[in-house]
Amino acid sequence: MSAHDADAIVVGGGLAGSAAAIAVAKAGLKTIHLSPSGPPDRRTSALMMPSVDYLRSAGLIDEPAALGHALTQIRIIDATNRLIRAPETLFDAREIDLPAFGWNFANARLLERFQTVAAGLPNLETRSASVTGLTGNTLTLSDGGSLSAPLIVGADGKKSLIRTEAGLRSHETEFAQSALVCDLDLGRPIGGASIEFHYPKGPFTLVPAGGTRANLVWIDDRDVLLAAKEGGPEQLIAKFREKSQRLFGTISMASPAFVFPLSTLSVDSAGTDGVVLVGEAAHAFPPIGAQGLNLGLRDVADLAAALEASDRQTSDWAIDVSRDYAKRRSSDLARTGGVVDTLFRSLLADMIPAQALRAGGLWALKLAPFLRRQAFAVGMGQR
Ligand SMILES: Cc1cc2nc3c(=O)[nH]c(=O)nc-3n(C[C@H](O)[C@H](O)[C@H](O)COP(=O)(O)OP(=O)(O)OC[C@H]3O[C@@H](n4cnc5c(N)ncnc54)[C@H](O)[C@@H]3O)c2cc1C
Repeated sequence: MSAHDADAIVVGGGLAGSAAAIAVAKAGLKTIHLSPSGPPDRRTSALMMPSVDYLRSAGLIDEPAALGHALTQIRIIDATNRLIRAPETLFDAREIDLPAFGWNFANARLLERFQTVAAGLPNLETRSASVTGLTGNTLTLSDGGSLSAPLIVGADGKKSLIRTEAGLRSHETEFAQSALVCDLDLGRPIGGASIEFHYPKGPFTLVPAGGTRANLVWIDDRDVLLAAKEGGPEQLIAKFREKSQRLFGTISMASPAFVFPLSTLSVDSAGTDGVVLVGEAAHAFPPIGAQGLNLGLRDVADLAAALEASDRQTSDWAIDVSRDYAKRRSSDLARTGGVVDTLFRSLLADMIPAQALRAGGLWALKLAPFLRRQAFAVGMGQR
């Protein structure tokens, strides 16, 4: 009889952890998912077509239209009033012969769906305990118990305890900016267009959420956002109208506003000695170009591929899986992190050369079909 409680333990009940628990169980491993309950996730996620295709092929969703809203256009408006301004740029999914770039989902709805799928898997057990420590492949739990498994999947978010305890080195840079999110009802619908107003301190983005509803992601200095939130709904709405250049008629708030601190986080390696990291435990960056969860789902897809390629008859199979997984993830994590970081810094740059480069880049994207196609491929995370 095995000395372990399971073949794999997945730590963290966010979207990355829940998708990972399902993928690991579907690979045939006896799996325990530690998913302590927390406040509902108020964010929304724009998932690009390759991620949506993955969700479908992995049995995580059926029809995206049942859960989310199609993203057919991306409109970028330079609202910086800088000396060198970029042109207004419109990207349309039809240019790459697709009906949509992707779909926008409410995280809470997606999670509910994942939980339904998880409940149907007999070899996947979900528990609400959280982890307080990790020694070797044994986890100590908040309920006083302990659990062990050859493979530990850390999906416990940006402040990952699993990452620290496994000795996987990370680098985090905190920004002065935060993101304010809330749902808005607009006087004029935006159809399938995501509309980004680029301001010097960060973009103000409206993402389609069906009908007249839009999900707002407003990036600005944390103090500015907290002061705007403290001012109450009326002042906030006045600010939203100003920021959206009064293009959408009356605006009302359809949910409370929440402010998320922003940082970038990267790891030297996403796996070692039978421990692997997925989702924000392995990477985080500002919500620019909708990459975070898209990358998290690519982690899960690579974990499934590493499991499929492994020989579980060998005694060191989990160590081999963690090594193979780290190798599979390294270039995607480095490339995506680099692209988002450069993009974010170019949006905030005060230097004239950087502004010129950014404006020049958007002109090039506006005018050169080849460059547009390259940009689409990077933005959609095509490998
Ligand atoms: C404003 C905003 C907008 C975004 N928009 C997009 C977008 O449009 N597209 C996109 O792709 N991405 C987007 N992202 C990024 C995306 O939301 C995240 O990448 C994703 O939700 C992270 O999921 P996760 O499961 O890795 O982490 P989390 O959601 O942070 O989940 C971590 C989980 O681990 C649990 N946990 C923590 N510690 C322990 C412990 N010790 N024991 C057990 N459990 C533990 C927590 O309770 C939590 O449930 C956005 C992010 C923000 C902030």
